[in-house]
Amino acid sequence: MGYIDWKKLKARVPLPDLLAHYGLFEGLTATPQGYEGTCPFCGSSAFKVNTEKNVWFCFGECKGGEEKGGGNILDFVARKDRVSLKEAASRIATWFPTDKTVHEPTQKQAVTTESRQEPAGADGGQGNTEALPTPEKPPTAPPSGSDFSAMENKPLDFALRGVAAFDEQVTAAGIAAVVAASYGAGYFTGKGTMAGRIVFPFHDDLGRILGYAGYRPADHSWKYPAPDKFNPAQAVFGMYHAQNDEAERDTLVLCRTPLAALRHRSEHRMAIPIAITTDTLSAFHRDVIADLMADREKLLFVAPQDDPRAVDILGELLGLYFVKFVRS
Ligand SMILES: [Zn+2]
Repeated sequence: MGYIDWKKLKARVPLPDLLAHYGLFEGLTATPQGYEGTCPFCGSSAFKVNTEKNVWFCFGECKGGEEKGGGNILDFVARKDRVSLKEAASRIATWFPTDKTVHEPTQKQAVTTESRQEPAGADGGQGNTEALPTPEKPPTAPPSGSDFSAMENKPLDFALRGVAAFDEQVTAAGIAAVVAASYGAGYFTGKGTMAGRIVFPFHDDLGRILGYAGYRPADHSWKYPAPDKFNPAQAVFGMYHAQNDEAERDTLVLCRTPLAALRHRSEHRMAIPIAITTDTLSAFHRDVIADLMADREKLLFVAPQDDPRAVDILGELLGLYFVKFVRS
């Protein structure tokens, strides 16, 4: 499926209709704000739907749990079907096509039997658990040119321990400790190749860590995982946070390193940064940017003076978005 405008989709599909689609609407009872009833995730009776805001929330076990205990229609499908937000958007758009959708937004009566068709793939929801392809030829690091490997990144089965966000090295690098903490970044106090570096985890769209980049302030050097372990053409730093940006910041900031992204985040509270670390944009990168820009107006591109590829990337972006370019 091509481009989906998430903002429009969220405004267009009423949550009760979506619940009805799963056969979950009937058990709910009406409240002044919308509906309440049994939570489809934890089974508590504290599941609430606010029809005016078109959001759901569980005040039972889901609240404060590891997975999202509330959100919009995309969050619901992502959790119910165990798929990415992108896949959730794609499914909703398929279940509720625009041409036959003339729903009044969030009317309680809008739930019709017509919309209670069997959800396609609701039994499956295995979107992220397929075996990953074994690359025939791992990419050389860092990849250059347009012939990026299509190797998908596999979530790590570990997280680094001893990552200190509240560390003077982090602050000295221009990153606010709270910002570092929220991205899982920090000064690595452990042993190994990342010792003495500020580490930055790359997440997938479910928030799982794909790999770490390590920055050493002393010599400004970067350390990335081996090319057969991590493919930067299939990763965007900050993507998960941008996709789940509760404040819905209207400016997306594209940076060239995770460090630059978190520095920017530390200084500009109303912008949400990502970083793409390869020389050119891959198809994956373009898709991620397109999804993030569906909800936003402005794209700020920040690249250092000595970045020879910045102009090429800028050229690509200018054809698609309203871009402001800043040399850092
Ligand atoms: Zn719950």
